Amino acid sequence: MKHYDARSMKAEEFISHEEILETIRYAEENKHNIPLIDSLLEKARPKKTGNGVRCAGLSHREASVLLACDLPEKVQEMYKLAEEIKLAFYGNRIVMFAPLYLSNYCVNGCVYCPYHLKNKHIARKKLTQEEVRREVIALQDMGHKRLAIEAGEDPVHNPIEYILECIKTIYSIHHKNGAIRRVNVNIAATTVENYRKLKEAGIGTYILFQETYNKESYLELHPTGPKHDYAYHTEAMDRAMEGGIDDVGLGVLFGLEGYQYEFAGLLMHAEHLEAVHGVGPHTISVPRIKRADDIDPGVFDNGVPDDIFAKIIACIRIAVPYTGMIISTRESEQVRARALDLGISQISGASRTSVGGYAEEERPHDTEQFDVSDQRTLDEVVQWLMKTGYIPSFCTACYREGRTGDRFMSLCKTGQILNCCHPNALMTLSEYLVDYASPETQKIGFALIERELEKIPGEKVRKIARENVAAIQNSDRRDFRF
Ligand code: SAM
Repeated sequence: MKHYDARSMKAEEFISHEEILETIRYAEENKHNIPLIDSLLEKARPKKTGNGVRCAGLSHREASVLLACDLPEKVQEMYKLAEEIKLAFYGNRIVMFAPLYLSNYCVNGCVYCPYHLKNKHIARKKLTQEEVRREVIALQDMGHKRLAIEAGEDPVHNPIEYILECIKTIYSIHHKNGAIRRVNVNIAATTVENYRKLKEAGIGTYILFQETYNKESYLELHPTGPKHDYAYHTEAMDRAMEGGIDDVGLGVLFGLEGYQYEFAGLLMHAEHLEAVHGVGPHTISVPRIKRADDIDPGVFDNGVPDDIFAKIIACIRIAVPYTGMIISTRESEQVRARALDLGISQISGASRTSVGGYAEEERPHDTEQFDVSDQRTLDEVVQWLMKTGYIPSFCTACYREGRTGDRFMSLCKTGQILNCCHPNALMTLSEYLVDYASPETQKIGFALIERELEKIPGEKVRKIARENVAAIQNSDRRDFRF
């Protein structure tokens, strides 16, 4: 039996199977323990301090009790608290991004992914630098400023040099007033040396989904290829941090294993990063398995229903209050709308999950990784967000100003985000409206910006933000940031 140790550098000790089983048992036993549940909700509530607002968060065991609780009244309290926490640290801003698929060549055997090696009928494609250029121009013309690049694992077709070359190309393109200002990277687990190269290439967050924290299931779901190595995959974030990347993004693919197991594992991973590196994950993603070429999600018997999915999101928000949360276009408009209230701070828009999909007039399906549920244009998503009370943000300022890792977290904790992220969101939204939006979206957007500028607490910041918004409207000056 492996003992549980959050500070250990060994996957099977910081994600201890026994500790997870014990956690699930404890949560089940206490799921109707109202005094305990009330005390956890109280512990997690935002508290005012001398210089801002603080949240204590919850441990994996504590949060698992909330997740197990099915008392309708308590679940409603959780939802309310999740929203309160989200508003305290992230306000009503929603950061926008799009995935960019570089290559679907892959040597792994992941049974849930259509890019697996044995899929001989899917078209294989890898973008040339000219094709990357075309994709990036199409993305810039929609208004995107932030991308997450995606690639299968293939040392011959997609070596690190290829990924680095693509990043360089992406950052070099400035079409009209467009620019990609932050490239996040979602590629397979790699070496410290390669993480260092990614850091030097100026990436934002390194994202790697664990898929499942259950080792036994992991080995079955990844029967062949380098990804089969559970420890190498699970310890990847430690190597990324050793390589100098201090913004890392966690996630599990919900539907592969029991959600209670994944939830506890995910939070233990976050606790491990905090314990060892002094900074938790920058983001947590919550993908659910989708239909895809060669893949029928029905064969995985752990599908997560929408209500449970909502509870998972709320409980993550309560447990790790400062971590950004991401939901993709795998989910429908309705599911995303609900998730936004419960703690999501970043969403993708107008995504295409095929290699080379953005440069095509019609959405291509031949190289797609999975079906996209939310197929609206970026303009439609932006307008929808504003109509439902959110501020779409195209901001990329933090990491470009060196506010990464614990520096970002301390900004978040001291509530300085209102003097910083809020004006940045308004200025980047102005850019979007002027350069890319439809007349209707522009009208709604400028009225919203006018109202929101008033909410900037610092007089000086408010004045500068107002001047910058005017400069964006009246000239080609862009990329203002605090
Ligand atoms: N190949 C890289 C790796 O191994 O981590 C990452 C890139 S992959 C394009 C991004 C993520 O897509 C995977 O980590 C997986 O969680 C998710 N994915 C794979 N198949 C999926 C499916 N059928 N439905 C939804 N998401 C899927």
